[in-house]
Amino acid sequence: MEEEQEYLFKIVVIGDSAVGKSNLLSRFARDEFDHNSKATIGVEFQTQVVEIDGKEIKAQVWDTAGQEHFRAVTSAYYRGAVGALIVYDISRSTTFENIRRWLDELNTHCDTTVARMLVGNKCDLENIRDVSVEDGKNLAEEEGLFFIETSALDSTNVKTAFEIVIREIYKNLS
Ligand code: GDP
Ligand code: MG
Repeated sequence: MEEEQEYLFKIVVIGDSAVGKSNLLSRFARDEFDHNSKATIGVEFQTQVVEIDGKEIKAQVWDTAGQEHFRAVTSAYYRGAVGALIVYDISRSTTFENIRRWLDELNTHCDTTVARMLVGNKCDLENIRDVSVEDGKNLAEEEGLFFIETSALDSTNVKTAFEIVIREIYKNLS
């Protein structure tokens, strides 16, 4: 019998409080959305199996547990990460302005080979948009990140966001 290689990719989700990190994760891993904002307690990561090019890949996605102050996220959180989703809320520009600080933090803990995706979440809130798609794209281009807008509420692009990152990690292996 042929040996099946195990693929396990650790992916971290970072960004300001209440941008929707936990809901992106629950939408991805369980197809669930939680309307009541409550701080993440206990659960550190969830694992979801994704198939890429016929290979089963386990995405182990880590969520911060109310540690969203800068430098409060411990190095254990970042350790071994091969992918990162850096999330802001398109209806709150302060969360976008803080992206560079999250990138700095990521850079101090992880090397540059980590696959990075800039995620503008809550794109269902078009009527109160505070960050243009253009601004998101431009920042991503400057910083060498993938870019996507998502909605954990209506599911737009959530699976795609994770799959692009997982594909990139897989590609970098070969
Ligand atoms: P976290 O602190 O980054 O983990 O954010 P949460 O996932 O706890 O979400 C914070 C709040 O934003 C909650 O009230 C969610 O219901 C809401 N939320 C999360 N994602 C979306 C989204 O895509 N669209 C909208 N409209 N609300 C969202
Ligand atoms: Mg959370």
